[in-house]
Amino acid sequence: MGKTKIDYATKVWNPVEGCAPCSPGCDNCWARRQNYTWACRRDKIGDLARRVKDWDGSLAETGRWNEPFSWKRPQRVFACSRTDIGLFYPDAWFNLCLTMRNCPNHRFLLLTKRQYGVYHLYHSMSNQIAFPANAWLGVTVCNQEEAAQKIPSLLTLPNKTQHWVSVEPMLDYVDLSPWLHPAKIGWVVCGGESAPRDRVRPIHVEWVHDLMEQCQAAGVPFYFKQWGNLTHTSGGDVYLAKNHFIPTLFSKEYRELPDALKLEGEA
Ligand code: SF4
Repeated sequence: MGKTKIDYATKVWNPVEGCAPCSPGCDNCWARRQNYTWACRRDKIGDLARRVKDWDGSLAETGRWNEPFSWKRPQRVFACSRTDIGLFYPDAWFNLCLTMRNCPNHRFLLLTKRQYGVYHLYHSMSNQIAFPANAWLGVTVCNQEEAAQKIPSLLTLPNKTQHWVSVEPMLDYVDLSPWLHPAKIGWVVCGGESAPRDRVRPIHVEWVHDLMEQCQAAGVPFYFKQWGNLTHTSGGDVYLAKNHFIPTLFSKEYRELPDALKLEGEA
């Protein structure tokens, strides 16, 4: 268990599932589509998929709280990819932090689109459990408006929390420079949208190039994850099938990781 197609992580861990759309970036939510597929095969997944398939904010625990203990080698774990930790109830937040704290050999990556929910949980639960030092907390943004809303709130959390920003799906030009000089963000990930052909929205080559240059100028690692299904180029829109998300920008791959997230043997 725990294998992932999210290529900046070596494992994925989903102790809780369920969410609700809250952003333009949610319009083609991968997790929702995945859960719907599973719900249609309910003999395999059962009640869990049925409970979350409506994607109305209901959460369901998967029984995998202890899964990271089974990975003997250190892993970079993308946690909670099929929910939003900003929706968590106190017990779920406690259990999430407890497992991460008790697996100090792994690095955990967390993302939210609900920065205020995370802010509230982070502080209201701090007398019961501290946020683990081996967890990186990030926000997902898809345009400049979301960057301005979400990043300042993320940065109010204590510095010992490593912060990162995922610009995916990138739906517009995004200027992160207010938070890159000096660098308050430790890592930037960027990617285009994966979605059915009739609904996918394009990522523009110049947006990616500009964001890469912003990060390079600030010395912040930049990870270009994927073009997604539709790329806007100077020659027009290019549709890419699922297996051709070649993540190169002008023939170069940008798969930079912060040193603190590198596993043994990674350059
Ligand atoms: S926050 Fe994430 S998991 Fe939740 S609906 Fe939006 S894209 Fe899907």
